[in-house]
Amino acid sequence: MKSEIINKADKVIAKTYNRFPIVITKGKGCTLWDSDGRAYTDFVAGIAVCNLGHAHPGVVKALVKQAELLFHVSNLYYTLPQTELASWLVNNSFADRVFFCNSGAEANEAAIKLARKYFSDKGEKGRCRIIAMEKSFHGRTMATLSATGQEKIRKGFEPVLNGFDFVPFNDIEALRSKINSSTCAVLIEPIQGEGGVCCPDPEYLKGVRQICDEAKILLIFDEIQTGMGRTGKLFCYENFGIEPDIMTLAKALANGLPIGAMLTREHIAEAFVPGSHGSTFGGTPIITAASLEVVRILIKENVINYGRKTGEYFKQRLLWLKDRHESIIDVRGIGLLLGMKIKIDGDKVVKACMDKGFLINCIQGNILRFIPPLIIGKDEIDSLLECLDDLFGDVE
Ligand SMILES: *Cc1c(COP(=O)(O)O)cnc(C)c1O
Repeated sequence: MKSEIINKADKVIAKTYNRFPIVITKGKGCTLWDSDGRAYTDFVAGIAVCNLGHAHPGVVKALVKQAELLFHVSNLYYTLPQTELASWLVNNSFADRVFFCNSGAEANEAAIKLARKYFSDKGEKGRCRIIAMEKSFHGRTMATLSATGQEKIRKGFEPVLNGFDFVPFNDIEALRSKINSSTCAVLIEPIQGEGGVCCPDPEYLKGVRQICDEAKILLIFDEIQTGMGRTGKLFCYENFGIEPDIMTLAKALANGLPIGAMLTREHIAEAFVPGSHGSTFGGTPIITAASLEVVRILIKENVINYGRKTGEYFKQRLLWLKDRHESIIDVRGIGLLLGMKIKIDGDKVVKACMDKGFLINCIQGNILRFIPPLIIGKDEIDSLLECLDDLFGDVE
């Protein structure tokens, strides 16, 4: 069955992904099973998506209940789930209003459009350029790849959209000197996920906030990967004692169902009026009902605090591993967004872990990324560490 599915898939699905040769058939909590019945402990969580693990009974129940009631009606009408999710997000963040869409890239598209429209409405049409970071990742649509500071993402799709400038992450002076009268916003991930789990210096983001205030431009945080408890707080900005003007969310917001959101303050939100922007599926009842249950569970079951403590334990264990193996260069990240830079081929380590029943992820060729469900247990972390300890021991 496995090779049949793989052969068929390789014939009919666009070749945009390098897939591992397993077929995943079901999941429960932090465990996934493949078509041969093999179990894997999941340290990928659908790339920082399934924060509550797989098949959480509360989310399943909410989804089924809404499915029996109403899937979709379009944004021509009001619905309760969308209203409730928006008010939850507003009550739990800096923001006053929410625009819903279906993915991270779309949330960033909305943020980019809003930043430009905001200044256009103020009569400052020339203020339309956005400063983004080198090594950033903001999505795969034309606008968001144009905002992405990685050559490999943009290559072959030129001309990319005009209107984006780049500076190195963590370099406050580079940012200061790049801002001019045509700059409308700074777009930044508080921790760069795809770029290699790159963390800012302690005062860097405060400095970015201050520079944006002085220049009277908008600060956009892409929290698509860092949001929803991933870094030990509901939103990553809470770790740094500052607030953005616009924030984008997606990935974990509905624990695996497609959703994106752009959050902002009232005076900026005013730039979006009927007809400015829209999305057929954005905030549709079936998805927002599930998402609403996801965010309630995050709080009710104390998942974020649990994940923060587990993350501290995990990082200590990775530092322990680093002390034992010279092929480990660096351990970084906060909460359960952890990275480990190694001297050997990361893909080989990922494959070897898979053979031992652990799914982990590698980015940028040699950075192992650990982004498990926030409900991961210490015993599961210990088992992975044992596996990694053996692997690195064998290589060395
Ligand atoms: C995943 C990701 C995106 C893109 O999200 P999609 O849902 O794949 O469009 C954008 N920004 C960051 C920081 C991400 O991690």
